[in-house]
Amino acid sequence: MPTPVRFQAPPGTRDILPAESARWRRFVAVFEGLVERAGYGLVIPPVFEDLGVFLRIGEDTEIVTKEMYDFEDKGGRRVALRPEYTASVVRAFVEHSPVTPWKVWYAGPNFRYESAQRGRYRQFDQVGVEVLGADDPLLDVEVIALAWRFYQALGLQRVTLLLNSLGDGGDRQRYTEHLRAYFERRRGDLTPQSRETLQRNPLRVLDSKRPEDAPVIAEAPTIDSCWSTEAARHFTAVQEGLTELDVPFTVQPRLVRGLDYYRRTTFEFTAEALEAAQNAVGGGGRYDGLVEELGGRPTPGIGFALGVDRTLLACDAEGVFPAPDAGVEVFVVDTTGGREALILTEELRAAGVRADRAFDNRSMKSQMKAADRSGAMVALILGSQEVEAREVAVRFLRTGGEQVLVPRAEVVEFVKGKVAR
Ligand code: AMP
Repeated sequence: MPTPVRFQAPPGTRDILPAESARWRRFVAVFEGLVERAGYGLVIPPVFEDLGVFLRIGEDTEIVTKEMYDFEDKGGRRVALRPEYTASVVRAFVEHSPVTPWKVWYAGPNFRYESAQRGRYRQFDQVGVEVLGADDPLLDVEVIALAWRFYQALGLQRVTLLLNSLGDGGDRQRYTEHLRAYFERRRGDLTPQSRETLQRNPLRVLDSKRPEDAPVIAEAPTIDSCWSTEAARHFTAVQEGLTELDVPFTVQPRLVRGLDYYRRTTFEFTAEALEAAQNAVGGGGRYDGLVEELGGRPTPGIGFALGVDRTLLACDAEGVFPAPDAGVEVFVVDTTGGREALILTEELRAAGVRADRAFDNRSMKSQMKAADRSGAMVALILGSQEVEAREVAVRFLRTGGEQVLVPRAEVVEFVKGKVAR
């Protein structure tokens, strides 16, 4: 036998316990309601994939170079835990060739080996959508508006939508060269980390959150001068659509986002109630080109992913979307040994009432304490007198402890009427 050791959840992971877990489930349920009403179906890809699927995110991104949970499995395959959903969803699209436009949503964990801190975890959850097979700027509007409506549904007031277009492949290439030239000129003003990033990918320098880089980034050229006519027209249509739906946005011409596959529309949501380093609560964009990279026919795509952990932190900071009341409605107290409670809780649950009871034949006092703690509105008390008289004492715990006797045969119906919401 190995020596007993007390373990803790690994760094960057957390246990989500009741009642926070109930809030978590409701968060996903609100999202599900919203996106299913818009015609999106749930997709559940595996948690791990062939490593190659994720290399397509961008070989010089931190996600790929530093943060991937990749390993060789017992069959000698090189696999990785999902660091994000889009690549998996596109892999599934190419594998199954569904009818387009293919509109899907997802919810679940991702894994990135990051330096863990509040709001930044190694296992974190996302909810999101992807649509494959439509180019229409009005689809961009639908997708962005869905994310916006979701934040509204949670009650968040202080979320900002930042919007940009990365243009088409060629535009992006030209912009990258402009940026390279500019940053080379200002090389001396950049941090050593950004100088290193510049070697690999000048676009990434714009992602730097280091304050020393900020003045150089603030004067960097913006991408609008590189847009093709088509890309510019697409972006105008997106902005008009959002305006029509009253979704407020700010055009942020240096927003490039962390992944390589984005084209045209890109967007990010920031929560003003959170600290700047971890205030991105969601983001997304078009990734025309990714399907081809994963072996499919040229197919446009767009999607977003919202961080569950971080969005809930934003809810805490704004004091909205509290944990739901997850307790039971009725608590059964039985001082005659517990069998009466066994049967009555079973009947209550079958009738749709949330009911719990005490175990271990505790004293009346101890069971009443448990009833109070359970959050129940009603305690049903079965003592030997009640059982003999085929009655149940019903005590209303929230309204001053008044008590009535109800025939045992009628008590389930009686209670149902009292707890109906
Ligand atoms: P990304 O795929 O990096 O654009 O992430 C989309 C959203 O997921 C972000 O806006 C965050 O809300 C969330 N997110 C990304 N990485 C983490 C992380 N390590 N911990 C918590 N949330 C994260």
